[in-house]
Amino acid sequence: MLSYRHAFHAGNHADVLKHFVEVELLRYLGQKDKPYWYVDTHAGAGCYSLEEGYATKNAEFESGIARLWQRDDLPEPLAGYVEVVRRLNPDGRLRLYPGSPLVASEVMPAGDKLRLFELHPTDSQILQNNFANAGRRVQVQAANGFEGIKAILPPPPRRALVLIDPPYEDKRDYQHVVTALKEGLKRFATGTYAVWYPCLQRQEATELPQQLKKLPVKSWLNVTLSVQSPSKDGFGMHGSGMFILNPPWTLHATLQQVMPYLVEVLGLDKGAGFTLEQHEN
Ligand code: SAM
Repeated sequence: MLSYRHAFHAGNHADVLKHFVEVELLRYLGQKDKPYWYVDTHAGAGCYSLEEGYATKNAEFESGIARLWQRDDLPEPLAGYVEVVRRLNPDGRLRLYPGSPLVASEVMPAGDKLRLFELHPTDSQILQNNFANAGRRVQVQAANGFEGIKAILPPPPRRALVLIDPPYEDKRDYQHVVTALKEGLKRFATGTYAVWYPCLQRQEATELPQQLKKLPVKSWLNVTLSVQSPSKDGFGMHGSGMFILNPPWTLHATLQQVMPYLVEVLGLDKGAGFTLEQHEN
């Protein structure tokens, strides 16, 4: 069942949190003069039009990146992410939004490699096309990312960020995330793994971070951004989270600085807020 198309959600508050944290993780890896890989198990199409097609249906980007991208009071760490969006839209009109692979390729040093999995035939073809000129730096596989990472971990440079960002429309995705991380950690215990997850009023979603906290890892960090109060009918996504295994030690302080700003700019009602926790085993 592959009904999910990320274009409907491109640039929404959840993408803002995910891609901002992604940039922070990649910038940290890039500080050392040693190669690393970016692995994206659920890569999407790579780039999205905000002027036509699916993204215009609910225009979710209007309460996400559109509120942020031209602000002149950005906290410094957020500016690196917003700069990627600005470079893609040089004439000052918000036409395009970068997906996680494009965000990565913009931020990473030219010699570092991207390994991308996308199962949807249409989106994997668009992804291929978006990176048609990237040569051997970028490899796209139209395959199941949960399975595919087994074959590439540990990556040759022994340094990597693995982003796991499934649709969760199939509730088995919650368990697949936990299983993939258990397998991944066995092969590559020192990798940095980032899991995006939705904040929903359903059991699988509230249980996922609790399950991730039990994984055998040196340290973890969990950040959530809620943009509104949970709905009275129990449906809908009021926010999202990023759970990081083996986070950089600087990330907690960066998020303490930036999350209040994101709440202020993206919050829709009094239920807007953030949570931030970290743990060393
Ligand atoms: N990471 C992307 C970004 O931030 O721009 C968005 C990804 S979207 C949330 C999830 C994607 O996973 C969809 O494009 C969907 O087609 C794809 N997908 C679903 N199941 C998959 C699987 N098992 N392996 C790889 N891709 C899958």
